[in-house]
Amino acid sequence: MIVISACLVGERVRYDGDHKLNLYLKSLIDDKKAVSVCPEILGGLQVPREPAEIEGGDGFDVWQNKAYVKTISGHDVTDQFKEGAKRTLSIMKHLNASKVILKSGSPSCGLSDIYDGTFTGNKKEGVGITTALLKLNNIDVYDETSIPTTFDNHEF
Ligand code: SF4
Repeated sequence: MIVISACLVGERVRYDGDHKLNLYLKSLIDDKKAVSVCPEILGGLQVPREPAEIEGGDGFDVWQNKAYVKTISGHDVTDQFKEGAKRTLSIMKHLNASKVILKSGSPSCGLSDIYDGTFTGNKKEGVGITTALLKLNNIDVYDETSIPTTFDNHEF
């Protein structure tokens, strides 16, 4: 079983109430080869919600209490982001899922770069908070730009 970011399969769970539909990934859900999760919703956040970015580092730094997640108005939502990551990991363990495809750029789901914490649209190298926790638990993490071409039936 594969786990996929809910916004990538058309669920309107992004902070602005929109989605980022990827038709191939949606087909995996429709074929019951994958399930969707949204860590930020699992962490108790609502739609819509204020945009949030990681200040002081990336997802790995958040787990070391060296960085934090703040909304654009300065509200600290680190605990909610961490809770959502833990719940995502729990779901993956329950499903015995070893692969996840997450949405690039997100403070939860980013895989290679994330917004830099200044809300100016600039990015920095680093991973999101959920991505970091899953990687620390030896789960294979991909994003929508790095879906393995080797996925075939024996992988699901
Ligand atoms: S990027 Fe991750 S946390 Fe953000 S809306 Fe998509 S699934 Fe939810």
